[in-house]
Parts: sequence; C-alpha cells; structure tokens
Amino acid sequence: MYYAEPVYRPPSEHASLLIQASVGCSAAAAGRCHFCNSNVFNQTVPQKKFRIRPTEEILEDIVRGRKLYGPQVEKIFLLDSNAMVIKSRELLKIVRQCYEMFPHLKQVSCYACSDDIIRKDPAELTELRQAGLNLVFIGLESGDQQVLDLMNKGATVENQIRAVIKANDAGMRTSVSVILGLGGKKLSEQHAINTGKVITAMNPSYLAALTLMVVPGTVLDYMVKERTFELVTDPLDVLQELHLLITNIETSWPVVFRANHASNYLSLRGNLPEHKEQMLGSISNAIQNPARLKSEYLRGL
Ligand code: SF4
Repeated sequence: MYYAEPVYRPPSEHASLLIQASVGCSAAAAGRCHFCNSNVFNQTVPQKKFRIRPTEEILEDIVRGRKLYGPQVEKIFLLDSNAMVIKSRELLKIVRQCYEMFPHLKQVSCYACSDDIIRKDPAELTELRQAGLNLVFIGLESGDQQVLDLMNKGATVENQIRAVIKANDAGMRTSVSVILGLGGKKLSEQHAINTGKVITAMNPSYLAALTLMVVPGTVLDYMVKERTFELVTDPLDVLQELHLLITNIETSWPVVFRANHASNYLSLRGNLPEHKEQMLGSISNAIQNPARLKSEYLRGL
C-alpha cells in the first residue's frame, strides 16, 4: 500500500486502517497556518507536497488493504490533512469501495478544512454521510479572528462555524480541535473566551484541546526568535486558558471533551455540559498543585 511518510492522522484513529487519499494539505500549499509542520513539509519534503492521488490508485489500495488485513476492519481514516478537499463524486467512489471491501466497517473519517465543507452542497454532504463518511475532523485552532489572522489560518470565524454546522446538519459527527497558547501572551485571554463562544455556536460532537508546541522551521518559530510572538511558557497560564475556554462553553447538545493529547500539561476528559464543573474543579486543583502537571521534557511523547 502506498504511504507518503510521515502521514497525518488524529490520535483517536491509531487503530484505523489508513488509506492515503490526498497527500499533505491544500492550506499548507497555499502557505497558510504559520504554526504547522505541514507547511514546512510542503516546501521541503518532495513526497509531502500537496496532491490528490488518482482515484483508481486509492481504490486499488483499499483492495490491497482487504488482502492484507482481512474483512474485520471497522474503522478507516482517509489520509492526509484534508482529504475532504477531494471532489464529492470521487470521494463517494472511495467511501463506497471501503464499505464494499470491509463488511464490518462502521466508520470512515477524514480531516477537513472549513472551505472544503463550505464548497460542498448540503445534498453532497448528506450523500457522503449516507455512503458512510460519518466523522470529520476540523482544526478550528482558535475562535478569535485576531489569532486566526496572526497565524494566517486563512479562515474566518464565521466560516469555521458555518462549516461545522453544515457537517452537523448533514448528520456527520464533527471533531473540532483547538490549540491552547496559540494567541501567545498578548491574546491569551481573548483566544480562550472567543474559542469557548465559537465552540458554543458550533456544538461539535467532540472537542480536542492541544497545547502549542513550536515546530522548528515554521513561520511561528521565526516569530518567536524575532520576539514578535511571546509564547505562553508558564503551564499555569496555559491551564488558566483552558479554564477560561471551558467556562465559556455553553452548548445545547453534549460534546465529548478531550485534552489528553501528548502536548498537554494536564490530561483531562469529560462530557460537556455534564462534567463541566468537575473539569473546571480539576483544572483549579492542578493550578493549586502544579506537581501534578506533565514535565516540559515529557510533552509530545
Ligand atoms: S489546515 Fe491543518 S494541516 Fe493544513 S496547514 Fe493548516 S493546520 Fe496544517
């Protein structure tokens, strides 16, 4: 099977069969997202340059996957960083082939940029969901427009909200990720408050909070070295951001919240709104007892 290493998948897809549908990220190819290693790889690693693989090759890989792993596969993740960019007609062929080859399949998922979803008609999204593309991962990163612009995310807050609501309305489950510390010291408070408010407006099925780690060679790395971006370096300040973020989430429908990514200082999980007070209490407790936090050298492991 073909893989353009290193591949990108959400941590929760560690047990899924990975199918390389697209390579790299179309946003990275446009020079977006100053914090992201896709951007660096797009420029420096030839096999990671953004492209969509020919559908026939993807379909053949799915057949190979069946030969290699048998019929028992239950989850498939379509690599790489925004397979949703693929035209709906081709994506449908890919998703249908997945279910034809794997009779026990329960889930096909992929990453999506908000533009990828907005570009598709509601009817196309519904057809994709009915075919079995039932989970999309979307990087919100921040609900604050100033932070998105500073990081050159190339997306408006309005479009990020629209995209998630559109996918929700098509019956897809949506998993949204945000990055603590992305506003630096200067925008820390508004980043947390506005991100909480945007999550409230989107009401995704899942929310994942990561903590910023500066990738060498990115524009953000340069900004830090040039001192035009001041990192939130104190873990307690990161926790304050997390506290403020969760405080501002008032969703109507349940959101499964996870902050158990390797980049985080404190591992946290629970359902919102059910466990909101409990999680806020855990964060406050960790702020009072910093010995509970992950050491800096262990982050990312
Ligand atoms: S859309 Fe995601 S993967 Fe693509 S460059 Fe931005 S952060 Fe990286």
